[in-house]
Amino acid sequence: MELGVHDVRKWVGREEPFAVAAASLPGLEDRLELPLRGPIQTSGRVRNAGTSLLVELEGSALVQIVCARCGSLADLPVTFSDMAQFREEQPGPEDDWFAYENEIIRLDAWVSDEMVLAVPLAPLCRPDCRGLCPQCGADWNERTCECQAPTDDRWGALAGFRGRDDERD
Ligand SMILES: [Zn+2]
Ligand SMILES: [Zn+2]
Repeated sequence: MELGVHDVRKWVGREEPFAVAAASLPGLEDRLELPLRGPIQTSGRVRNAGTSLLVELEGSALVQIVCARCGSLADLPVTFSDMAQFREEQPGPEDDWFAYENEIIRLDAWVSDEMVLAVPLAPLCRPDCRGLCPQCGADWNERTCECQAPTDDRWGALAGFRGRDDERD
């Protein structure tokens, strides 16, 4: 993924939008240990801030995850946004910018890092996934089982209040 910055370099304050997509990035799926289910889409703006070019980046992609609760495969949309400065010189260890050359900013490493950060450590097939019964393995998203009556969190909270009252008495 590359950003041509020939025009934006012409004067300080100049700003340009961009949109770049890629089917994948080298090594990304190995780092994620998950397959991508569509292209990585990025967009944003690059602004000439004088000594550096300021890039605002937003991106999204669809990643195939294994649900941490029920074990089913699901396509999880991940999104990210970040900002970084680029200069035509190599940064030292204390510097907070990245290098570019030949009027091209390369986004691959940055976008890869953002993707790795954007995928949750314990992804869910959906936010309210009920998971599997630990005893019989029934998928509680599809049915209940005999092992455990379905619980309602509101009643659980009430039971907690009652418990505290009892302790006070
Ligand atoms: Zn699930
Ligand atoms: Zn069960």
